[in-house]
Amino acid sequence: MLNRQGRPTTPGAGAENDHPTFTGNRALQQEEPLIFEFGRTDVTGVDLDEPAPVADRLGGLVRKGAIGLPGLSEPEAMRHYVRLSQKNYGIDTGLFPLGSCTMKHNPRLNERMARLPGFADVHPLQPASTVQGALALMDELAHWLKELTGMPAVTLSPKAGAHGELAGMAAIKAAIAARGETATRNVVLVPDSAHGTNPATAALIGFTVKAVPAREDGTVDPAEVAKLAGPDTAAIMLTNPNTCGLFERDVVEIARVIHEAGGYFYCDGANFNAIVGKARPGDLGVDAMHINLHKTFSTPHGGGGPGAGPVVLSDRLAAFAPLPYVRLDDGRFSLVEHAAASDQSPLGRLTAFHGQMGMFVRALAFMLSHGADGLKQASEDAVLNANYVRACLADLMSLPFGNRACMHEVLFDDSWLKGTGVTTLDFAKAMIDEGYHPMTVYFPLVVHGAMLIEPTESESKASLDLFIATLRDLAFAVRDGDTARFTGAPYHAPRRRLDETRAARQPVLRWTAPEPVAEAAE
Ligand SMILES: *Cc1c(COP(=O)(O)O)cnc(C)c1O
Repeated sequence: MLNRQGRPTTPGAGAENDHPTFTGNRALQQEEPLIFEFGRTDVTGVDLDEPAPVADRLGGLVRKGAIGLPGLSEPEAMRHYVRLSQKNYGIDTGLFPLGSCTMKHNPRLNERMARLPGFADVHPLQPASTVQGALALMDELAHWLKELTGMPAVTLSPKAGAHGELAGMAAIKAAIAARGETATRNVVLVPDSAHGTNPATAALIGFTVKAVPAREDGTVDPAEVAKLAGPDTAAIMLTNPNTCGLFERDVVEIARVIHEAGGYFYCDGANFNAIVGKARPGDLGVDAMHINLHKTFSTPHGGGGPGAGPVVLSDRLAAFAPLPYVRLDDGRFSLVEHAAASDQSPLGRLTAFHGQMGMFVRALAFMLSHGADGLKQASEDAVLNANYVRACLADLMSLPFGNRACMHEVLFDDSWLKGTGVTTLDFAKAMIDEGYHPMTVYFPLVVHGAMLIEPTESESKASLDLFIATLRDLAFAVRDGDTARFTGAPYHAPRRRLDETRAARQPVLRWTAPEPVAEAAE
């Protein structure tokens, strides 16, 4: 039986089961086996001469069996990889509302700039005299980052937000060591709404993590921080705006409490895109903050990189910035590569070279093409869009902290789903059928069944309206008891609902060759 959208109403009876095809393809949606599954060892896209016989100098260790590499003709290899590339859902194919991840449009101008041969074709080991333009670009980017954050120093080399956290916390550790307090000052306070990387970073660096509970309204109470702060406090790691999409309005007081206890204020700046041009972390008492260029300044991200996580540092930490860094003497740029050449106390080195050059170019292209006023408008539009989504859904979905203004992302919880038989996960899966990548779900952990939506400034009003109308239609279906639309979703995706519990408990991490399939006898 089909419902009004033409969907089967019995859970598990997916559309593809109704009309199975011989190939497993569904119209132009092609099945894509692993390359090992359809590759054969008897063909190859290249003509290789029979190797000349050579003497065995491996003492009998020469391989005896077939190497098992898949062989494909050139068109087969081409189709395989092109089809795989088309299976990816990205910001260039549709709205990508993942909260906390900031999936914003990366203007093609950035790509054009990053491909200029003077940036794309240089090598990190080239003499500095031959890459003055690239070093000047890094210096210019550093200038913009310092201006926008109101901080005196920046290190560009960290390659992701989490890597930036490591850099910033290592600088704090070095500063504490320089004060001779390593043994006694070893606790890092982390609010329980924090991104998982925060406590992980603090622990990796060797600090002990203490959680700061969130108050009713989802923000951190300076009184709670004061209760926990003391002579053992190395730092607090606070995200602002926080992962509930709220501005920590007591941030200045929290900074004061931490500084009074002798600790440092590490700000997780992953959400800087909500406040660029509106507030400067330097004015809020921040000592170290990473900036995800791939979130705030539009460079692409996903799939593990490449990202870039420059860290701005206060005067108290600047001297400990890692190597290398750009220096300008008499109009010539150079990279300070060794502690001996530095007049500072660098904590060491985090990467082989100077960082992600391509991301630096893209981020600066974004900054220069927007200008100071444009960057501010991007922040304002990101916040406006999130609040538009909030206002248009607040009558159907539940807001854990009341219907008040949010920053760049809006957080719903699952109390509106109570008793409906539909969970946050089901709702997210039904969004896939509608052609949307789901929002972030079940994060932050401080909210039950969280749904965190970040539309970013990239989306037009028409695009937001369609997204909102879709969520409203889904919410009405929940209310009308059309549970099957959710519990069996996704119906239209190439793969149906996965058994996530089993996948976690019994991960199958090794591919084994399938049994050869014999043609069915007539
Ligand atoms: C994305 C994010 C991080 C980690 O950044 P990566 O670049 O993914 O390593 C840390 N904290 C918050 C709040 C984030 O949103």
